[in-house]
Amino acid sequence: MSDERKNAKHKAAMEKQKSKVDANIEAADEERGVAILLTGNGKGKSSSAFGMVMRALGYGHKVGVVQFIKGQQLSGEEIYLKEKCPDVTFYQMGTGFTWDTQDRTADMQAARDTWAVALPMLRDPSYNLVVMDELTYMLAYKYLPEEEVIKAIRERPREQSVVVTGRGGGTALQDVMDTVSEVKEIKHAFKAGIKARQGVDY
Ligand code: ATP
Ligand code: MG
Repeated sequence: MSDERKNAKHKAAMEKQKSKVDANIEAADEERGVAILLTGNGKGKSSSAFGMVMRALGYGHKVGVVQFIKGQQLSGEEIYLKEKCPDVTFYQMGTGFTWDTQDRTADMQAARDTWAVALPMLRDPSYNLVVMDELTYMLAYKYLPEEEVIKAIRERPREQSVVVTGRGGGTALQDVMDTVSEVKEIKHAFKAGIKARQGVDY
């Protein structure tokens, strides 16, 4: 195929694509916050959530971040938000829950205490964005009542967006979310013996 033909073909394809996108933009006329679930086995769920935190902060939006996992080690996002973004409400479960813990009662209490921080944010219209990082595990282990979590997400202020991360999540949670993305693992450096990297993995 000549370059000229290739270019003409490409142009036609791009125009077709553009008209499709334009039609979708035209059709979207509802203005409200969105609920996003980032799930799947691949790397990129929490980092995507923190990407949205950065976007929101760029516009001076009010942001809350609640992490439903005990930090095995400090993460860059925690350091940055605590040190440089005093306006961001940051809370981490901190105690109780670890993967190898035997103390289910303590885990449940820690989950409930953390939920008690997240819930008021989901009821506070001054928050533009609320991130609940690794929340899905709390539902999977039944540390938190799924109906209550789903109800709080559904009944949140109209302008508020919420991002939930974590593997799994279940169909009831997926149903209440507007956007659900699955990060699929194709490969991961860790499996080739490469250590988790500061500033990239944590
Ligand atoms: P990230 O925080 O890097 O976006 P994530 O939120 O998608 O990752 P988690 O399950 O929360 O994934 O895992 C957190 C940590 O585990 C990160 O250090 C991440 O690089 C690493 N990790 C994520 N996915 C995998 C995987 N498939 N295999 C091994 N390690 C992984
Ligand atoms: Mg994560």
